[in-house]
Amino acid sequence: MNQKIRILVVDDEKINLNILIGLLGDKYEVLVALNAKKALATLEKKEVNLILLDIVMPGMDGFEACHILKKQAHTQEIPIIFITVESDEKTIEEAYGIGGIDFITKPFKPKELLAKVKRELKLQEMQKELQLLAATDPMTKLYNRRYFTSASAHIFDLAKRHKTNISLIMIDIDNFKSINDTYGHKTGDDVIVNLANILRNQQRKSDIICRFGGEEFLILLPNTTLQNAKIVAEKIRKNVEKVSIYLNEKKSIHYTVSLGVSEVDTQNEANIEEAIKRADTALYEAKKSGRNRTCLRAIDS
Ligand code: GH3
Ligand code: MG
Ligand code: MG
Repeated sequence: MNQKIRILVVDDEKINLNILIGLLGDKYEVLVALNAKKALATLEKKEVNLILLDIVMPGMDGFEACHILKKQAHTQEIPIIFITVESDEKTIEEAYGIGGIDFITKPFKPKELLAKVKRELKLQEMQKELQLLAATDPMTKLYNRRYFTSASAHIFDLAKRHKTNISLIMIDIDNFKSINDTYGHKTGDDVIVNLANILRNQQRKSDIICRFGGEEFLILLPNTTLQNAKIVAEKIRKNVEKVSIYLNEKKSIHYTVSLGVSEVDTQNEANIEEAIKRADTALYEAKKSGRNRTCLRAIDS
């Protein structure tokens, strides 16, 4: 991880903030807030990895702030460690009950505080790695179908609300079986990885690319009309035509892809499934009419 880990410290006493900056500032980027409202405002602008939250503060207290943080989509995943002078059982129970992950009593024991912060950040890193593993295809490092389904549902909802376009491109390697049969499975794998890299290199940040099946890929393009998706598809097709896969000094191989493009009817359909079927139908047409080409399937066709 090259980005510095950021911790937000919320406490109404400056002296406590200074102690915490002293303890954490060397290793982490520390943001501070003297009250809960300021903390919430900071979180509107900045992403943080962890929050150390005082419970007893004038105005909004730490528990109330935690309630709000756990309700907001952009803050609900941030782990919260409560810090407070009150260490009676009821307070501790409530701290865990509303979603705190740990509890530190004041005055701080520096080593204990550092150990708890480190442990939480380590857990968070491991969780992120697991999430990434569960979402990606190991061979191509592209997203897998499961991730694609959940991410596309979210994008679909946004597009429906804002009445924006979504298009899909389904891509399938032509005569791939004969590449496997002629040059072996390993070369087949190299071709799949080569195509994955071409797709990755031309993608826009908002596009989602997934390995849909063996030698089949699906791209979701938010804010993109059918005609613009066709332009993207043709670019991919031509880039694939240009590459050669090195086998040995004497031999390089070329391959081609067929592409099916469709548009999602965000206003009349419940999800992107129908559009996937249309992209598949368009892909089938591309195969049937000679391969190495792009076919379109409009919403009402
Ligand atoms: P078409 O042009 O109609 O798409 O023909 P095709 O030969 O590409 O399609 P077909 O569906 O007949 O064959 C796909 C082959 O892809 C069959 C399967 O063994 C192979 N395959 C699937 N996944 C992998 C993989 O991860 N690595 C390799 N090397 N081959 C794979
Ligand atoms: Mg194929
Ligand atoms: Mg196939």
